[in-house]
Amino acid sequence: MMQEKEIFKSLFIKALRTTKGKQINNATDADAFVALSTVLAEWIQEKNTSGNKQEPVKQVYYFSMEFLIGSLLATHLNYLGVNEIVESGLEELGFSLEDIKPYEHDPGLGNGGLGRLAACFLDSFASLGLVGNGVGLRYRYGLFNQRLEDGKQFELPDNWLGEGYMWEYRKPTEAIDVSFGGDINTLVQNDKLQFQLVNAETVRAVPYDVPIVGYQTETVNTLRLWAAEPILDQVLMKAKLEGYAENMLAYQRRLEELTDFLYPDDSTEEGRILRLKQEYFLVSAGIQSILKEYEKRQLSWSDLPRFLCFHINDTHPAFLIPELMRILVDEKDLSWEESWEITTQSVSYTNHTTLQEALETWPENWVKTFLPRIYMILVEMNERFCRQMWEKYPGDFDRIAELALIADGQVKMAHVSIVGSHSINGVAKLHTELLKKKEMRLFYQAFPERFINKTNGISHRRWLMLANPSLSQLITEAIGEEWLQSPKKLTKLLPFQTDSIFLEKLQQVKHHNKQLLANYVKQEVGILLNPHAIFDVQVKRIHGYKRQLLNIIHIIHLYREIKNNPMKPFAPRVFIFSGKAAPGYHFAKQIIQLIDTVSKVVNQDSDVKDKLQVVFLENFSNQLAEKIIPAADVSEQLSTATKEASGTGNMKMMMNGALTLGTMDGANIELFDQVGKANIYPFGLSAQDVLHYQQSNEYTAKDLYHSDDRIRYALDQLIIPGDFVKDEAVFKDIYHALLTYNDEYFVLKDFDDYAKQQRKISNDYQERNIWNQKSLINIAYSGRFSSDDTIASYAADIWKLE
Ligand SMILES: *Cc1c(COP(=O)(O)O)cnc(C)c1O
Repeated sequence: MMQEKEIFKSLFIKALRTTKGKQINNATDADAFVALSTVLAEWIQEKNTSGNKQEPVKQVYYFSMEFLIGSLLATHLNYLGVNEIVESGLEELGFSLEDIKPYEHDPGLGNGGLGRLAACFLDSFASLGLVGNGVGLRYRYGLFNQRLEDGKQFELPDNWLGEGYMWEYRKPTEAIDVSFGGDINTLVQNDKLQFQLVNAETVRAVPYDVPIVGYQTETVNTLRLWAAEPILDQVLMKAKLEGYAENMLAYQRRLEELTDFLYPDDSTEEGRILRLKQEYFLVSAGIQSILKEYEKRQLSWSDLPRFLCFHINDTHPAFLIPELMRILVDEKDLSWEESWEITTQSVSYTNHTTLQEALETWPENWVKTFLPRIYMILVEMNERFCRQMWEKYPGDFDRIAELALIADGQVKMAHVSIVGSHSINGVAKLHTELLKKKEMRLFYQAFPERFINKTNGISHRRWLMLANPSLSQLITEAIGEEWLQSPKKLTKLLPFQTDSIFLEKLQQVKHHNKQLLANYVKQEVGILLNPHAIFDVQVKRIHGYKRQLLNIIHIIHLYREIKNNPMKPFAPRVFIFSGKAAPGYHFAKQIIQLIDTVSKVVNQDSDVKDKLQVVFLENFSNQLAEKIIPAADVSEQLSTATKEASGTGNMKMMMNGALTLGTMDGANIELFDQVGKANIYPFGLSAQDVLHYQQSNEYTAKDLYHSDDRIRYALDQLIIPGDFVKDEAVFKDIYHALLTYNDEYFVLKDFDDYAKQQRKISNDYQERNIWNQKSLINIAYSGRFSSDDTIASYAADIWKLE
């Protein structure tokens, strides 16, 4: 230990010199961050080369347009088991680890749950000792930084690479060329039809590898992120043909632009085409480079599914299917039938949504223009598939039209994904049932054996061990360290539900975390939160279906209650919101503005401020989530039943001892099944109810407006100048969505039930011992939602790893 610390210190000093040209006495914390990461990166590489990678084990490649990996410094320190020597070594050199940590930028290469899931999965692969690598894009700018001005969301570029990224390795010698556009020449060679792409525009894909370390394992996997670069020869050739004078820089720039942004502006055709090209760029570069490696192993193509699995995270990487077909048929000279067998046996697909607007389609003519050979292959796939269905369902035109991969001028990416893979999974039990019975019904009838459920999970290491060190320590003191490797062992906490001393300690830990968050909020927003209040948290993307509106309308109602009954006892509440609205989603932006408006009124009113506080924290991110979630008493999971495929925020908060106030939707149902009805606050319409009301016209929001005085009051506040608005136009879209357009998400319908459960929470919280007991039970049963379990289950049932 002593010796290791001395080794660390000398490596650190050396790294300061070589990377920054600094000595200990003139180095800043920012310099120290770079030097520390350099030492850690070196240690990771030592592990990487010592691990035995030669064995022909089956490997998974997880393709995703998003990886929200979060900061890695703390992860590496802990997973490598060097936290203590580093912390104390730095101290002896005059640095504090806590001061160094904030210099790490959180790469925002994802939008929300889907990207975070991909990151938790990588963590679990490595920690379980499985070979599972990520394949993604290295966006020059991550998801926008959110700023509020007068409650309005502004989007600023997230320049995460500004100071360089410490954990990546650029591998230019492993670059791959990816082609767009051009024409297809058909010729016959050796009695075989050949397709030649000519006049295409080729972009170079350069990989940047980020090593992914497992928790106390020897495994180091890779997240490979691809970046677009111009090909110099091509640029020069073009210059020669078109004259050097104009625009060569602009041309180079245009090629690089391909990987500039996560979610290019989808309100313009140009932006959407860019996204289409990004999707193909990801899979073409990814699969070409994987197959190159595979060929070096001298295995036969037909054996490929025994060694490689390609998983697509939602439909965004679905061009992988025709791209793999293209390579096998055109470049490796395999027959269509053989290639199809290899492709379908190696590809599997996770569906993440049943929201109609989120089911991806691409205009046929765009695919044809920008990916001409891929288009031909899709057409062939479609013809063969429709023929197969014709044999199965002779004469059933309607069914086949609905199943087709290409219809009405659109390529349906979900259909391509289902037909081209051997396994399709939903992400929670309810979601998978809805896929089978509703959205993908006809596919389920055709291929029932392909459909399977895999409920999402979260890394208990990131979301408990690292995000909540006080709670982790308390747990380990009580039941030992076993839970870190086997999270289901958290159930060993159950006997402590009758141990009032332990419960008292649990309460102290929560209070401590609330105090930490309060300090942060004071520093960032200038508001002093009451840490004795109930911390009631709703943090996630802002969306109609997630129903932040239900929460805020209820807050307006509470405000009035307190104003009208100043003497009535009221359990103090702090409502915490955070989340980004998609830049083009006007309605969601209005919701943010409403939250901001309400928070200003409430926080400035001295009559209520000891009882009610509302804050909106800007720029929700992985790092911010790690600050907020450990401090939550109440976890708001309000999605309209049927709309949230799974949710993972619900699992993170449960694991940190928050009690869920939620609809019976997504994985909330499975949380309910774990903890039992005494330890959760369910409310609202069931999935069946929602489907029923959507089909009948038995629900009229206006009736509730007239019959429920709380609803009427709250909605009137949106348009009548008074406490909340000066200008009646600001929130009129919200008002009309709820009344004129009959409340698509059933906000008003669920209001009464929601308010009841909120009252129950206020009452229950007064009995702190019982509340702490419920909290403990939530933590104890949360191990079931570790992504280690989820990945083990994918590995056994979908990828068939040993
Ligand atoms: C977990 C997480 C999400 C997903 O939250 P949901 O409540 O499941 O929508 C989104 N963003 C970040 C940064 C997260 O950590």
